[in-house]
Amino acid sequence: MPVHTDITVTHNRPDLIYIDKLNNKTYLIDITVPSDYNIGAKEIEKLSKYHLLKTEVSRLWNTQVTVIPIVIGSTGVVAKSLKRYIDKLDANIDITILQKQAAIHTSIIIKLSLKWIKKQQISSNLESSIFAIQDNAVMIWQHQRDILKESVDGKCRLCACKDETVQHILSGCEKLAGTHYVKRHNNLVQYVYWCLAKKHRIVVSSLWWKETMIQPQVKENNSTKIL
Ligand SMILES: [Zn+2]
Repeated sequence: MPVHTDITVTHNRPDLIYIDKLNNKTYLIDITVPSDYNIGAKEIEKLSKYHLLKTEVSRLWNTQVTVIPIVIGSTGVVAKSLKRYIDKLDANIDITILQKQAAIHTSIIIKLSLKWIKKQQISSNLESSIFAIQDNAVMIWQHQRDILKESVDGKCRLCACKDETVQHILSGCEKLAGTHYVKRHNNLVQYVYWCLAKKHRIVVSSLWWKETMIQPQVKENNSTKIL
């Protein structure tokens, strides 16, 4: 069952607008990292959110427009449909890189937000902490309260308003939204941007993580325009 508690990094426009001039096609690309349970719902939400824009762009620019929702669960889980969307871009985008990046940044978020927990309660090993997140077995207040029956109030120690569940820390805390969720999100945008730019031989850094994206940034040549 989808949980509608994710804080979405909101934009008035998609993360990337990619124009393939040679084929007269435009792609509205939006990237999001919700909690794993929400990946299906987020994909539908993105498609409907950009439906109007799709119609408008198609009419104004006289081009074929496709909405590409790239939804990566916070521990790297993806829906089967993702490959179909990624294939449409035909830009050698490696889904496993997107998955790893989301998971690595989530691991950083977990470590930062759970730093008050005694060392022996959470493994410092990245892999096992990711598995612990997926098992919902991380020692958090709600767990202490509801499972271990210890007397704690169970509210998030960062925002103090929502229950401190694993899902809340991963993608629902307002205190993390403006910083760490944004960083996680922007990293994925940067990788997708780099793949598209490279496909069209727009000069970019040879390593995607070295590419600097300063918004607003428009790159254009004879075959493409990315904005
Ligand atoms: Zn919170």
